[in-house]
Amino acid sequence: MSQSARRRVLAIGIDGAEPRLIRRWIDGGELPSLKALLEHGAWGRVPSPAYVVNEAVWPTFITGSAPLLHGIYHLWPWHPETMDVSFLNTNHLTPFWKDLAHQGHAVGILDVPYASVIGLPNAVEIAGWGEHELLHRRPEVHPPALSALLRDGAGSHPFAHGTVDAKGPQDQNGLSRVVSLCLAGARQRGALMARLLSETVLNLFLAVFSEAHHASHLLWHTVDPAHPAHRGKAMGYPPVVARGLLEIFREVDRQIGRLVEAVGPETTVLIFSLRGMRAHEGIPTILDPLFRALGLAYVKEWRAQSWPERARGAFSGIKRHLPSSLKYVYYRLASHEVKLRVLEPGMMPAYDWSRTVAFPLPIDHHACIRLNLRGREAQGVLDPGQYHETCAEIERLLRELKTQDGSPVAKDVLCIARETGGGPPWHLPDFIVHWEDAASASPLRLMSPPITAHPAGMKFTGQHTAEGFFILRPRPGGSAAPDSVGVEDLHRLLVNALKA
Ligand SMILES: [Zn+2]
Repeated sequence: MSQSARRRVLAIGIDGAEPRLIRRWIDGGELPSLKALLEHGAWGRVPSPAYVVNEAVWPTFITGSAPLLHGIYHLWPWHPETMDVSFLNTNHLTPFWKDLAHQGHAVGILDVPYASVIGLPNAVEIAGWGEHELLHRRPEVHPPALSALLRDGAGSHPFAHGTVDAKGPQDQNGLSRVVSLCLAGARQRGALMARLLSETVLNLFLAVFSEAHHASHLLWHTVDPAHPAHRGKAMGYPPVVARGLLEIFREVDRQIGRLVEAVGPETTVLIFSLRGMRAHEGIPTILDPLFRALGLAYVKEWRAQSWPERARGAFSGIKRHLPSSLKYVYYRLASHEVKLRVLEPGMMPAYDWSRTVAFPLPIDHHACIRLNLRGREAQGVLDPGQYHETCAEIERLLRELKTQDGSPVAKDVLCIARETGGGPPWHLPDFIVHWEDAASASPLRLMSPPITAHPAGMKFTGQHTAEGFFILRPRPGGSAAPDSVGVEDLHRLLVNALKA
């Protein structure tokens, strides 16, 4: 069968699109292209297990395997061999489309988060053109001739020019700039996708919009103003900010409408998101002071630190105390390389590994904890025979944590060895902690031990939830129409449609 005679599948991700919000806007007539797809298609949930946290969902989708296998849980993973973190590299991932390309399907891939270009036969691959995560230093393309199309036809995406950011909900100018750049990015991306579709023959085209995700973190208070975390934050905004997130989704919807029209009704279309969004109140930073107070972690005395450790500590102190206006200027102007170099030194305190039993890893919306296990960590001190007992103690400790007014702090404490039914994980943290909203209090004051810590990331008003959605057109007949497909299995909808 010739490539053009094979089945065609158009798969478009809208990263971070919250299912409830999308349904509300579809039902309200705000997203006519998605509504039209849904009239002839199926809607389904895309849930993730609780331990497949935020940064793990895309690698899980791409590889069709669990985090225990792909090993990704954070942009700054821990390396037990070197006792340090470094910025994530995803070149080891084998995406599900590799097999498809080798089977003769013509595959097009554009900005699938966490995916790298691998140079497949019959494929056009673009990574890092307009990505939210900044995993790539510059766009990667295959075949190389595609560079000209990207440079002359699409231009560079606004996310590639410097950080598209705002100081917080009070920063109307910053938010207004975020909206206009995300709108421009979505338009450019739609045009690039249309061009790739018209100039190449593709059996599977998988592309992801990153703009709505980026904007949702900063503008979530405008679509959920009644949430206690957002009270009064969205007051007095001009329409360009107040309706900004809706307009970005409307633009994405408009671009999807054009692409769906271009591929015709015989093409299978999958629109999907792997993670949703909800109100955000700040990221708790309590674990480091808590573990130090309980004697689980120790930081080296200044005199015992090496010169590089002292320099890192001093530098991260300067960064912490930089006025927010200067930090903002820095983040807007600094290059990707400089940002990574400057960010890295503040990631981990100079722990005294000879006495540290458990320590928090760099934070995200959830917390990750690692035990300093002998035989796994290069400077491990915890006897492997005490691993499960220590895990049980730490879990009990976290579950019993309360704020000064008696509210629980941890919503869920997941011990990875137990969740995955195995021993201590090599790449993943030993624990993932999901926080209650009370943990984001500013400051958070614990009842016992009496420790206080201020949350980080207060400029963000949206954080991820573990559930996305899909719209599949045409609706699969009979028992083949699933109403829920786990993130690990979502790629099967594409593969099945391609091979039907
Ligand atoms: Zn995000």
